[in-house]
Amino acid sequence: IISGKVVSQAKREELKNRVAQLNVQGTEVGLAVIIVGNNSASRVYVNNKKKGCEEIGVNSYEYALPEETSQSELLELIEKLNGDDKVDGILCQLPLPAHIDEQAVINSINPQKDVDAFHPFNVGHIMIGDYTFLPCTPAGVMEMLKFYNISVKGKKCVVIGRSNIVGKPMAMLLLKENGTVEICHSGTANLKAECLGADVLVAAVGKAGFVTADMVKEGAVVIDVGINRGADGRLCGDVCFDEVEKKASFITPVPGGVGPMTITMLLE
Ligand code: NDP
Repeated sequence: IISGKVVSQAKREELKNRVAQLNVQGTEVGLAVIIVGNNSASRVYVNNKKKGCEEIGVNSYEYALPEETSQSELLELIEKLNGDDKVDGILCQLPLPAHIDEQAVINSINPQKDVDAFHPFNVGHIMIGDYTFLPCTPAGVMEMLKFYNISVKGKKCVVIGRSNIVGKPMAMLLLKENGTVEICHSGTANLKAECLGADVLVAAVGKAGFVTADMVKEGAVVIDVGINRGADGRLCGDVCFDEVEKKASFITPVPGGVGPMTITMLLE
């Protein structure tokens, strides 16, 4: 079992030391987190991000704006934070209310403060393979593989999902580590056959129980990015853990797998 909790804890210790060293040199580190509206899941994420900052010694500045905030008001705030020396990173929690154009907001963040790595400038750098910031979830997956000494070099890696936040950057990072990468999506002709060929299978679909044991090669490494509510209301991933665990050489559980890594990689 690949434990995101274990990897995350080790990483946070390392980050705490790095921040302490910066403090000794007289440098403080600050993250601005913007949340617009009353999305309860977003509230939980933002609170966890603040807690994570406290834990490692990063200053966090929260901007909780009402649902009816206009796009221009939000852009004005980001402009101010772009020029604020106390703020090293800016994060605008998604999703935003429907009247705000998410891409316009992402584009307005100074790429050098874009800790989510969603700005096209940073997306381009990821494509080139020369980057400062990475999207936190795929970065967390790579960190877990590294921690458990799992090399993807020369392995067939199948990523199910092609979102800008998870699937696409995930594929680029596996490629950078010399995996032979394939991206599957809802238009993939024979998904089961593609998955069966995978030495490393990453599921980022958002559907409970999507990956079943008959789609997994014996000995494969299975990474479950999905966060879903099962029929019983409990948190679960995209992978049928109980049956796939028997075939996989390594597997991430949900909860306790990729999830804990995401905020830790944001802190990095
Ligand atoms: P999206 O909904 O943006 O993307 C889902 C992807 O799955 C799409 O590319 C879609 O294909 C593909 N897909 C859907 N149905 C099928 C199908 N039947 N066969 C093959 N592919 C399919 O989701 P995200 O990438 O944002 O997130 C994916 C999951 O990861 C979610 O459960 C989310 O909650 C979770 N997540 C977890 C995080 C963590 O910290 N652990 C962080 C971020 C996300 P198409 O493009 O063709 O529509």
